[in-house]
Amino acid sequence: MDCFVQSGKHARLSCEWIEHGLAFAPRSVHACCVLHHGDLGWPLLFEFQGGTFDIGRFLSARADLAAALNTDRALQCRSCPLLKNYPRDNGDFILRKVNLSHFTACNLHCTYCYLQKERCATAWWNDDQQVRYGHSPVDLLPVFRQFISSGFLSPQAEVFWGGGEPTLMPGFGDLLQLILEYGPWVTLTTNGTRFNHTLAKTPLANLTIICSVDAGTRETYRKLKQGDQYEAVWENLADYAAGGKTLVTKYILVPGNTDSGEIIAFLERSSRVGVHHVVLDVDAFHPVLTKEMQICIAFAREQARALGLKLDINGCGAINLTD
Ligand code: SF4
Ligand code: SF4
Repeated sequence: MDCFVQSGKHARLSCEWIEHGLAFAPRSVHACCVLHHGDLGWPLLFEFQGGTFDIGRFLSARADLAAALNTDRALQCRSCPLLKNYPRDNGDFILRKVNLSHFTACNLHCTYCYLQKERCATAWWNDDQQVRYGHSPVDLLPVFRQFISSGFLSPQAEVFWGGGEPTLMPGFGDLLQLILEYGPWVTLTTNGTRFNHTLAKTPLANLTIICSVDAGTRETYRKLKQGDQYEAVWENLADYAAGGKTLVTKYILVPGNTDSGEIIAFLERSSRVGVHHVVLDVDAFHPVLTKEMQICIAFAREQARALGLKLDINGCGAINLTD
């Protein structure tokens, strides 16, 4: 199979996650949080119930995955678009990419979210017990202290924090503060429905706040999110922007929000609250780009240009479309 063909004497297949990353799910540690090729991805390294993080076990599980990958035995990595050739592994590992998905409670019910998907137990995110475990998350504060004191985590790392709604998590502010003070760049996805003091007030600049609003009107928001917090979200985002935070608003294209007036209203509102960067994406679990979505994107490009907004089309789902 093509993706396992290597070139060069010492070349080997790998990806940026295997080289430098790990992902936390409610009770497990994974090589990545990539969901870009069907139901594959998120290769399991080991179960994790909290407490001391066994770095030796992590390195050994990672080495096993890397070896399996190069002998066509890593089924979850098969056809992954992030695979490429790397030079020989020199055995040094420092953590430069971390994903936090260990908390799964949320106060919204977005129609496209994994939390609303059928529980068929083929992966942690559609396993009822795993999702319930995520309501009582493992405490990662001591784990990050350990990562920092041991030098395992690079101060230049990237931390991607999703959920659930992270600001609902007990200890959210302390963990965020610890990571920000050490240095990694945190990209945090919040639904924006609750004003969070730490997000608003931290003077540290190594933070990007992403909020997927997905609607330009209260009615569409209500239908997609099963909640009526549209105005509250924009108010909170305006407060974060006023405090100088780097803010990105996101619009996941689904069949119910592709009207051009809808996306134009979303872009205008983003601009008004002080956002300079917007991202369009498709549903990661149903990565289809319909004719209506393509027309909507064309409108969005034009409107973003007129408003001086940076517009990207990428994220969780869109990478599927490059296949
Ligand atoms: S699924 Fe892709 S990104 Fe994840 S570990 Fe495998 S090759 Fe890397
Ligand atoms: S806000 Fe995020 S976690 Fe909550 S339901 Fe929506 S997509 Fe899911």
